[in-house]
Amino acid sequence: MILSDIVKHLMQNDNIGIISHVTPDGDALGSSAALGLALERLGKRVVVLRNDRLPSKYSFLPGSHLAVDCEKAPFKPDILVALDCGDVERLGSGVMHYEAAGTVINIDHHLSNTMFGNLNLVDTNAAATAEIVYQVIKLMGIALDLDIAICLFTAIAADTGCFRYDNTSIVTHGIAGELISIGVKSSEICRRIYSLRTLEQTKMLGRAIDSIKLYHGGKTAIMKITKKMMQETGCGQEDLEGVIEFARDIEGVEIAALLRETDDGEIKVGLRSNEYADTSEIAASFNGGGHRKASGYTVGGPMDAAVETLLDRIEKILRV
Ligand code: 5GP
Ligand code: MN
Repeated sequence: MILSDIVKHLMQNDNIGIISHVTPDGDALGSSAALGLALERLGKRVVVLRNDRLPSKYSFLPGSHLAVDCEKAPFKPDILVALDCGDVERLGSGVMHYEAAGTVINIDHHLSNTMFGNLNLVDTNAAATAEIVYQVIKLMGIALDLDIAICLFTAIAADTGCFRYDNTSIVTHGIAGELISIGVKSSEICRRIYSLRTLEQTKMLGRAIDSIKLYHGGKTAIMKITKKMMQETGCGQEDLEGVIEFARDIEGVEIAALLRETDDGEIKVGLRSNEYADTSEIAASFNGGGHRKASGYTVGGPMDAAVETLLDRIEKILRV
């Protein structure tokens, strides 16, 4: 079984690198820190390879002593574990470690995962990659301590919208219950990752909400964030996690999209759906990926052209 093969590899090797996707979210960061801390308990040399900035709202996560920028890795890992990452491009500057690693272990829950590892454990039923990391840690025989529990809980809460999205299963609640019994403060973590915002982030949210336009009889909501809006509010891309939910939550909307101008003139698109639409199909058609109800891709600008092509694609899959 692949899970036990992975555990065997982790137990038998001493230099382990952990990496996740660029523009890291709570699952990417929490899963990486949890696995890193667990392997450290086993006496392994572990490094969590950073390929992007840590969003400030996740600075409370334990395990930061294990993290270094990709370019400054203190040793060459025997094994590279990629977590929550659907394809090699999403490793960003971490691709150098992908190319150098003897063995790549790919642990993920994205429908669009390209199976880029030597060992691939992709469970699309897992609400978060952290659910799979939890199984790995258990099978390695490591007792969960409060630090590991906080990391796993944060990851799961982030990918389930604090247990509201329909990826939340009995398994999700079971694991969360165990983590709470270890001492995790559920309400505190959910507030930190879902409600707490700086003034700048709140102003950005206001501008983003103001930009929303509905199409297709109200079934599609488009939200646009320009570079100018980012400059004026003093926000970076790491300040935008969760903003798209305000478009998805509009009554009658099936598909919501957030289009953001990047520094290099491209357009980063995030997609969400509510009931039936498979947004990962739309994202895949633009070389992106993700889950049915949450996905993304990047295209060339300008913004209005990106909106037009997206609206055409969405129209084809909306039910009348
Ligand atoms: P978000 O909108 O929160 O950035 O991303 C939603 C989901 O889609 C996440 O699971 C994320 O990993 C995935 N995703 C976002 N952008 C891309 C992309 O460009 N490529 C791929 N493969 N997945 C993406
Ligand atoms: Mn995830």
